[in-house]
Amino acid sequence: MNKSNDSLFDQCSELGEMLGLNEPVSEDVLKASLQDENYANKLLSSKDSPEVLLHLLNNPPQHRLDPQAFSTGELVARAAGALLRWSKTGFKIVDDEALERRENACLACPNLRGPETLLEIIIPSSSINDKPGNRTGNQVCRLCGCNVNKKIRLISESCPAIDLANPELTRWGEVVLRT
Ligand code: SF4
Repeated sequence: MNKSNDSLFDQCSELGEMLGLNEPVSEDVLKASLQDENYANKLLSSKDSPEVLLHLLNNPPQHRLDPQAFSTGELVARAAGALLRWSKTGFKIVDDEALERRENACLACPNLRGPETLLEIIIPSSSINDKPGNRTGNQVCRLCGCNVNKKIRLISESCPAIDLANPELTRWGEVVLRT
């Protein structure tokens, strides 16, 4: 095995470890998670839900698995960057004020929709009630495809829509990150 393949195996192992697995994820899972942020977020937010996680690991989005998309070296480089970002921010949770503010914005947003795909339907969410953090159930953001109940908790996440009254802010009232 050459050095790139060694590194690739290391990245698959690291992602497996982050997801609480006893083995590396497959190369297809690593590649799909790097090309599809929504898939990556679903993996991360399902790490404590074994059945959903297994379903995700067994079904990486096929349209994302373009064999020409990355060389092995590029894949390793992307994986290193993405995993570093996740390890820095992916597991941090927002405070109660931010959670409620984000949730209020989603509840008032025309982009909030009900679950449609099997995966969206089976991803478990707290039952809907009036408690902040539990008010969106398994509804999904139409723009990014994320489960909003999970997305609003992660400090590393941002709303993809601009606040029309203030283009410097997202609909969550947070500063738009320019890359
Ligand atoms: S994340 Fe943003 S765009 Fe998506 S539903 Fe929530 S407020 Fe709307």
